[in-house]
Amino acid sequence: MNLDAYRAAAESFTAELSLEYYRHYAGLQQELGIEPVYDRHAALFERATVETLREAAAHAPAGDERRALCALLDFAVDGYLGRATKRLDAELARRETELALEVDGERLGFRESPVVQANEPDPDRRARIEAARLEMTARELNPLRREVLELQHALARDLGWRSYRAMSEDLKGFDLDALAAQTAAFAAATDATYVDAVDPALRATVGTGLDGVRRSDLPRFFRFAAADSAFPAERLVPAFEETLTGLGIDPGANGRIVVDVETRPGKSPRAFCAPVRVPWEVYLVVPPMGGRDDFAALLHEGGHAQHFAGVDPALPFEFRHLGDNSITEGYAFLFDHLVEDPEWLERRLGVREPQELIAHARAQRLMMLRRYGAKLAYELALHGGGAALHELPERYAAGLTEAVRVQWPPELHLVDVDPGFYTAAYLRAWAFESQLRAVLRERFGAAWFESPEAGALLRDLWAQGQRCDAGELVSALGGAGLDFAALAA
Ligand SMILES: [Zn+2]
Repeated sequence: MNLDAYRAAAESFTAELSLEYYRHYAGLQQELGIEPVYDRHAALFERATVETLREAAAHAPAGDERRALCALLDFAVDGYLGRATKRLDAELARRETELALEVDGERLGFRESPVVQANEPDPDRRARIEAARLEMTARELNPLRREVLELQHALARDLGWRSYRAMSEDLKGFDLDALAAQTAAFAAATDATYVDAVDPALRATVGTGLDGVRRSDLPRFFRFAAADSAFPAERLVPAFEETLTGLGIDPGANGRIVVDVETRPGKSPRAFCAPVRVPWEVYLVVPPMGGRDDFAALLHEGGHAQHFAGVDPALPFEFRHLGDNSITEGYAFLFDHLVEDPEWLERRLGVREPQELIAHARAQRLMMLRRYGAKLAYELALHGGGAALHELPERYAAGLTEAVRVQWPPELHLVDVDPGFYTAAYLRAWAFESQLRAVLRERFGAAWFESPEAGALLRDLWAQGQRCDAGELVSALGGAGLDFAALAA
């Protein structure tokens, strides 16, 4: 097998696929034409290719050669599974777009329903919207999701791994047991303070504490409409650009980032980043709205865009585009967490009394981290063969209920699953980000986002792409590896 030819073809595939996503979700074209892209590049994902790469990776000397082969193998297996499930995936996407709920005699699009729910002040109507969505999820989506899952599990075993879990762990290089132990310790360490942190914030936004709140109230809690006035639409793009110029960084990365702020029908209501050709062609799509969520989304996606546009162009394809996604997510979190930083809120948005914003953000973050820890424990059982299929709904609901302390619906046990243990990448990214932020604050002060030296440090990190994993980057910054304790603190 000619590795250079494989890299070049993989890079073309990635660029074509990413461009399809960009054009569809930016509202530039109606269809999402990813099937023809897979068909044009079918040779990348043959079983024989997977086996050759796996063999080569197993025998490569430790260091960059092995890292490169592992990243390419991960890419090939992902495409091999993706080709097998793409018909089901497309059908799931079609149903999600076309299904409509019937609530109080009104029709609500399935995908739009969580947004309507988050904006609904009446708790009983929120509960009716959620009940209708859960019923439809169980009836229309879960049977297909189960088929996808069984196919993925069977293919992983057929490729010679013990389980989908073992395969993911091998391909990503994550130690999932160690991560699960850290997140369990985090949950134990925050048990005593959880109610005190979450209860007042819940009461302030939805009028009920943990004793009476329903899961259907949580989208409203996360939406935090009362904060909108602090995040006006006309400050969205300027606040983002001023943050980057404060760091001595060009928001457009010398033309490598195309910022799309136009309004057009069919454009995604959420900001997103499409890294088409890293680092030369990266799209950052921004919805021209306001509110705290939009600020967080733009900063998050802007963090991804800056990372990708800042990668050293001399690196091979796999270190520019592939590797440990905990890294790019960590840079994205570094920026989106600025919406809960009192220093940033005052300097960029003129917020003088940020206490309520901070208290809400803390409660939300705590809830999110505990939820993801419980999700990881569940996904380990799901993908590791440790639980029978009929036990899964109850197992999922019990784990999530215990972590969040809100009665959790079992109907979500197949849709609330991130492919390829992306849940672990998010958890690792949260740890990486908190350690990176601690370094920035220690070296450059609480207003590190106004320091060109901090920007230089970030640019050095971005240039490395995802060649090393997040733990190695933390060690290079002087830490002792990824550590969840920093988050609990
Ligand atoms: Zn992200």
